Amino acid sequence: MKNGKWEARIRRAGELAAAHPFASEGLRFYESLARFQKSLYSEVEAACGPSKMSRSPGTLRSEFDPFLLLPRFPAFLAVIEKIAPAPLSRAAHELGAKSGSQWREILARFWEEGLGSPVNLEPEETLLSWIFLQPYAEYLADHAAWTAPDDAPCVCPLCGSKPQVGALRPEGDGGKRSLICSLCGTEWAYRRIVCPACGEEDVRKLAVYSW
Ligand SMILES: [Zn+2]
Repeated sequence: MKNGKWEARIRRAGELAAAHPFASEGLRFYESLARFQKSLYSEVEAACGPSKMSRSPGTLRSEFDPFLLLPRFPAFLAVIEKIAPAPLSRAAHELGAKSGSQWREILARFWEEGLGSPVNLEPEETLLSWIFLQPYAEYLADHAAWTAPDDAPCVCPLCGSKPQVGALRPEGDGGKRSLICSLCGTEWAYRRIVCPACGEEDVRKLAVYSW
């Protein structure tokens, strides 16, 4: 069971919302979204089982199970309509009026082409597909028996998606950087002094933000 990570996200969002009122609308939305994602992850795990399956690097998004996912999509849209800020709530309502075959096409297209690629989807459809499919992708990643490649790619070595954030973790006297996948949540080691988006290695041109 990997439900502990969802609890940690829910708790952290709640803490930050309480500490930073100016950002509370987005954080409270995320807190509620993470609760739904946690339950969806549990449903996927109950349906697919707790065992790990052998998966080769870069192949995770070749798996897509519409028979598992589509029946859960209307409940997701209903939750988003209820908890999201008005523009996204409206988008969820409008998407809810489309047919099952249209949902399948939208979700499959996002799954195949990924976040930030020219997916020929409306931005709202991309966003809703992303946050709906995240728990499924994380289930597949958590239950993958695989060996990471030796090189450090700038996209997720398991599913090929772009990183969402980088993390600096203490190691020895310094820190080690890793990147975290925007879709399946896989974390992988990455060189510290290089931009994963453009390959820039000149430290004077690499911005560092801290607070
Ligand atoms: Zn990934």
